[in-house]
Order: sequence, then structure tokens, then C-alpha cells
Amino acid sequence: MELEKLVRKNILQMKAYSSARDEFTKTSQEMLFIDANENPFPSGYNRYPDPYARNLRAKLSEIKQIPEANIMLGNGSDELIDLLFRLFCEPQKDEVLVTPPTYGMYQVLAELNEIKLNKVPLNAKFQLETNAIIEAISCSTKMIFICSPNNPSGNLMSVQDIKSILKAFKGIVIIDEAYIDFAERSSFMRELNFFPNLVVIQTFSKAWAHAGIRLGMCFAQESIIQLLNKIKPPYNINQLTQEKALEVLEKASTYKIQVQIIVSEREILRAKLNEISWVEKIFPSDANFLLVKVDDANLRYQQLIDFGVVVRNRTKELHCENCLRLSVGTPDENIYLMDVINRLKS
Ligand SMILES: *Cc1c(COP(=O)(O)O)cnc(C)c1O
Repeated sequence: MELEKLVRKNILQMKAYSSARDEFTKTSQEMLFIDANENPFPSGYNRYPDPYARNLRAKLSEIKQIPEANIMLGNGSDELIDLLFRLFCEPQKDEVLVTPPTYGMYQVLAELNEIKLNKVPLNAKFQLETNAIIEAISCSTKMIFICSPNNPSGNLMSVQDIKSILKAFKGIVIIDEAYIDFAERSSFMRELNFFPNLVVIQTFSKAWAHAGIRLGMCFAQESIIQLLNKIKPPYNINQLTQEKALEVLEKASTYKIQVQIIVSEREILRAKLNEISWVEKIFPSDANFLLVKVDDANLRYQQLIDFGVVVRNRTKELHCENCLRLSVGTPDENIYLMDVINRLKS
């Protein structure tokens, strides 16, 4: 892979914004900071945050067992995906490839950035059509998005298929692992040393229970991280989020236990849903949700709403006709859900 050829020319040439505290060389002395027009009276938050979230990345490095230089943080994974578009794709010229049915933000961000989106559907088992993907690659294809476990189907993509694509494609392969902590398999970030074109994205929004703080993680080779750092908004991770995320990581064992509960609840829910006459099929899941085929998704969706239960209707997505996507709740919520479902007539 030749990174310089993949990156947009204007980004290679541009100079990054130099933030307030970047320019001086640190000494051990106590410094008087009058360089950033902040209010000098302490509020806990009167200073700009660390643009590189160094403490947080150090802690993540320890937990994820990966060097800090390979970690970049974003205001949600959505910001990271947007930055990848802007780093690699020339508007109105370059193209990306996605594999429907999959996460909707890839398309939204492609449209926002005026990048053509090529679609190579997953097969009926929601697995990658590797040969079709490789055939669909053109000289304008800059990135391929693989969501594993996939949203909305819930299943992991085959390791062999992902590796074949990483080998065959000279551009960037982004593996979105928003749900990897619910899966039995370890992260693809362990493969970073073997595939220079690999970018792995994870999030605090799902297993880490902090969708509200907006924090996404990107793992990639150092040269890609440096380029992303060059184009990111200087203070994209605010101080409240940096502090909260450090607290969250200190309690990693709590979230591990929650993940175990969610995974076991998922299978309990599967068993109970299987008994429902109007449930036609429940797809295998490596995530914290189930894709459920029912007799009439629009009808069941509305009936559930009437009982105060909001699910995601995916009936319009490819291979998802009459499918609802249900997130696994707490044990109590799941009992309530099944009470409601049992009341709906067949
Ligand atoms: C939920 C989800 C995310 C998380 O996005 P954030 O911006 O980090 O909240 C990313 N990718 C997929 C496929 C998701 O389902």
C-alpha cells in the first residue's frame, strides 16, 4: 500500500492548526498560561482540553494492548468515519464500497462528502460476497467498509473473507467493530501489523455503556493516525468526555459483567421469541440485538409502539423483509417486553 497515493493531495500539503499548547517546549517549571485567551479563574474547565487526550490514550493503550501511537479518538465513531472520508476521498471523484444491509452512516457520510457509494450486497446468510467485492473494486475505490458484527443482521463476518479483501485491495479497509465486545472473537486490531491498509473502529456507545459522552476509537498504523490528527478539529474530545472515559475504563470489570448478562439475556430472549406464533425467524447474533423476522413488521411495530415499546423496523433493508431489530434490555426490561409480545394477537 502506498499511503501517499491514497491520501488527498490537499491534505498532504496543508499545514495543521497548531493549538495553543503545541508550540512551546515543556519544562519542569510551573507555567503561566496567557496564550489562549481563556478565563484565568479556575472552574475545573476553564482551560482547553488536551488535543490528543494523552492520559486517556495511555489508559486505552494498556487495556487494548496496543501502542498509543496507533490510537486516535473521535467525537463518536461517526466523526472518525467522516474524517476517514475527508482524508482519503476526493469529492466528486473517488468511490467507496459498502455491503448492504449495513450501518446507515456510511451512506450518509458518503453523500455529505460527495463520494460515490458502490454497493455489493451481503448474501442471504448476511456474509460477504468476497469475489463480487474484489471484482467491484475500481481504481477510484478508496475505502471498503466492513461492519463486523454487522448492524442490522448482528453476525460476525468470516475472518477468511475479511483477510482476502485486505490482501486483494490496495485501498483502506475499515472494520467497524461497534459490537465486537459482545462477540466471542477478538478484535481485528491484532492484525494491524500484518495489514497496513487496515483501520479498526470501536466505540464507547455500546458495550462500554456511554453513548452519551460521544467517544469513538480508531486503531490504525501510525502514519494514518498522524494524518487523521492533522485534519481533526483541534479539541474534538472535550474535557468532560476525557475525564468520564478514564473513569469508565477504571471500571472495565463492571462493563464486562454487563456484557455477559446482555449476551445471556439475548439467548433467553431468543428462546422466548421462538415460541411466539407470529415470529418466523430469528437470525444468529454476535451483538447486543436480535434481528427478528415476523409476519408483518409494520403491524407489529405499530402494536409495540402502542404498548410503549420502541423497536427498529428494518423491513425496507435488503434481505430484511418483515424484520424488526430488538436491542437486548435489562432482565426486567426483557420480561416486560415478553409480557407485551405475549399480549399481541396472532
Ligand atoms: C452504534 C454504532 C456505531 C457507534 O457510533 P458512535 O458514533 O460511536 O455512537 C458505529 N457503528 C455501528 C455499526 C453502530 O451500530
